Amino acid sequence: MRRFIDLHTHSTASDGMLPPEQLLALAEAKRLAAVALTDHDTTAGLAAARRAASRYPKLCFVPGIEVSALFPQGTLHILGLDIDEGNRRLQGMLSDLRGLRNDRNPRILARLRELGVDLRMEDVLAVAGRDPKAGAGGESIISRVHMAEALRRKGYVRSRQEAFDKYIGSGAPAYVEKDRMPPGEIISAILAAGGVAALAHPPQLKYGNLAEFERILRGLIHCGLNCLEVYHSEHSQTQTREYLRLARKYKLEVSGGSDFHGSPKAEVRLGRPRVPLAALSGQLGQRLSAHP
Ligand code: AMP
Ligand code: MN
Ligand code: MN
Ligand code: MN
Repeated sequence: MRRFIDLHTHSTASDGMLPPEQLLALAEAKRLAAVALTDHDTTAGLAAARRAASRYPKLCFVPGIEVSALFPQGTLHILGLDIDEGNRRLQGMLSDLRGLRNDRNPRILARLRELGVDLRMEDVLAVAGRDPKAGAGGESIISRVHMAEALRRKGYVRSRQEAFDKYIGSGAPAYVEKDRMPPGEIISAILAAGGVAALAHPPQLKYGNLAEFERILRGLIHCGLNCLEVYHSEHSQTQTREYLRLARKYKLEVSGGSDFHGSPKAEVRLGRPRVPLAALSGQLGQRLSAHP
């Protein structure tokens, strides 16, 4: 009986390193009971992931998404889990978000050029393993992570981190703000697509104390949020315990995952931290228990 799950991962459809097929093969090798693919702003990897999963009868595949929301300080990411990716409203929103990226990416490259850094879109596409002739359109996304790696490969920086610090991180000279949507809009699109809407990695909100976090959480619940990512590779044990308590207090579903990108961050491994299948309830719990 498989007992552990990972409901937060990325593939080459966004800024992950492994194609969906390889991600699913790794989840099977780790004997996970379930894995969700939650790429940023795109469902382009879900079909291939589902096909791969059909070869592993003991592995339950959960289609997902991760979207960045407007938030004054810190980072607010919403996960959509168990979504119907055929939903038109959801796809309309994701297509708008990719449009915003496609407007922003050339502006970052233009800023870099002003700084004397010659980084071309074709360099960035090559890092992402995309066909340069196809351009940056399509349903897979290009993120700053790809640019950071391209800057490293061209010798402008020694590491991706240096690329963020020196050029493209928030506050650095080639940083360009990305337009984001209010959390309520994202949550309702996920709910409309039959999904569970989870607040991802709460510490990235950079809240001052737990009382402040609880206020933010209540606001999101008011917008329809129904799940909390209790387990995540960046959470301390104390944080996990607090989030579990708050999930119970507010009757939120529990989710959790590694946020595996596969794997320049070597410390982030698929299936870690261990998320017990038994932690799931509600829609996610039903979805998993319906799996043969
Ligand atoms: P994007 O969605 O294109 O804005 O890229 C966001 C991603 O870039 C995040 O998910 C992080 O992986 C990475 N990132 C953003 N800021 C930094 C930073 N200051 N240092 C390292 N990585 C960063
Ligand atoms: Mn990412
Ligand atoms: Mn995130
Ligand atoms: Mn993520």
